[in-house]
Amino acid sequence: MPGKTHNVTLIPGDGIGPEVTSATCKIIEAAGVDIRWDVCDAGAEVFKKGLETGIPTETIDSIFKNKIALKGPLETPVGFGEKSANVTLRKMFETYGNIRPIKEIPGVRTPYYGRGIDLVIVRENIEDLYAGIEHMQTPNVAQCLKLISRKGCEKIVRLAFEFARSEGRKIVHCATKANIMKLSEGLLKRTFEEISGDYPDIEAHHIIVDNCAHQLVKKPEQFDVIVTTNMNGDILSDLGSALIGGLGFAPGANIGDDFAIFEAVHGSAPKYAGKNVINPTAVLLSGVMMLRYLGEFKAAESIEHALYITLAEDRILTRDVMGDMGAASTTAFTDAIIKNLEKPFDTQKKRTYNPIQLPKVSKDPAPLKPKDRAVKGIDVFIELDKPFEVLGKNLEQLATSTPFEFKILSCRGVKIYPCLSLKEPDLVDHVCARFLLKDSAQQATNEMVLDLLQKLSKECRWVHLEKLNTFDGKTGYSKTHGEG
Ligand code: NAP
Repeated sequence: MPGKTHNVTLIPGDGIGPEVTSATCKIIEAAGVDIRWDVCDAGAEVFKKGLETGIPTETIDSIFKNKIALKGPLETPVGFGEKSANVTLRKMFETYGNIRPIKEIPGVRTPYYGRGIDLVIVRENIEDLYAGIEHMQTPNVAQCLKLISRKGCEKIVRLAFEFARSEGRKIVHCATKANIMKLSEGLLKRTFEEISGDYPDIEAHHIIVDNCAHQLVKKPEQFDVIVTTNMNGDILSDLGSALIGGLGFAPGANIGDDFAIFEAVHGSAPKYAGKNVINPTAVLLSGVMMLRYLGEFKAAESIEHALYITLAEDRILTRDVMGDMGAASTTAFTDAIIKNLEKPFDTQKKRTYNPIQLPKVSKDPAPLKPKDRAVKGIDVFIELDKPFEVLGKNLEQLATSTPFEFKILSCRGVKIYPCLSLKEPDLVDHVCARFLLKDSAQQATNEMVLDLLQKLSKECRWVHLEKLNTFDGKTGYSKTHGEG
């Protein structure tokens, strides 16, 4: 709301974070928006003090109170130990949607300049491989769970359509790998196809994500809004940023029902920290997104135009665009933008921005309620410590005294036993034994499963179990390659 004092949590962050956030705050203040910044810590220094989340309680309290944060990049410890404080923040505040605009910037020449790139990637932000559920199942094989929920899909799809409406956009593409991961990525595709009917004013298309990457490089101007899963969105948005001049120009917003955290796509670029050479545009444009979220549409436009005049007319550009010769420092670039505030800039494509209507999705954890469900078998993952043919034969024999039939042994999703192939499989020490009920009309009870597991425990070291479910007669598990 213009004229109002806004309370915003400010996390300067690591590496180049303090430089890009201070440039942004200076420009927002110069644009006349009244913001009371609550400056808070998170990231590397907090990890170093021994706090495992990298986010102190005061920072969490501040975001809870203010509901809005502007955040610089946070360094992520690599390898074992602490999780990314960025991901923790997104999860903690349930900012399920990550909105990443990729828009041609006046004056920033790229091979695509003049083609009018103006698209937005709406990335699911808290599920998928980023749920961070990983296990070493054997000493040699790691697993990362790709969790995709119906509710998560509905929220992100509706957010994408609502966002499209708020900016007068007309096409939404859903990019998935549903051709391979039919159940997980397929859930987003199916949900998208179902929900798109509620938005008849917007064209809806599905696209396979690898082709989406190809099309983004070939003809990016064909896209308007792309909704996608977490990992896909992470990669596509970095690709997208390169189309318009690099990570220095790519802003982002993490949006949830109750909280919003605005941050650039880029990280802490530690090699440039403290050198006064980096481009603050990405965080500045994240700040512009924040101003629109706060209803400060006029100030948002004034800052955007001042940025464009600085880049396109004054030709004041930072090192990422100019190289070492003739580049403006971060602070000189910031001052130039401030001088250009309130000046008009004639953009070819003028958008009318409206407040986004955040979707209302039922809180029910299980929106799909099958009338009929059954367990038809189990997959048991086993650490391989004997020849696979021996294990296969033993499992065949072992199953004869149970209600289950041993079907196949597979390794990394490929059938290895029974096998007619003359080629020796290239094994790892992690195999999966599939058992299905001999009588397919029956249902497996927990007692049957536990009995089978007890027998298996005498034969091998099993490491993981999955029940093979059907819901309303539909198979809820994938087939192994070569299973038939
Ligand atoms: P990065 O910090 O994004 O930097 C990669 C490269 O992008 C830089 O070397 C630089 O390219 C360019 N770049 C990034 N920001 C720029 C800016 N504002 N102005 C000009 N150029 C810019 O990625 P990274 O090196 O992979 O990650 C560093 C740390 O940041 C890691 O700890 C990572 O986990 C973390 N990270 C945090 C976030 C977040 O907070 N949301 C996001 C991503 C990564 P040139 O080398 O070509 O000059």
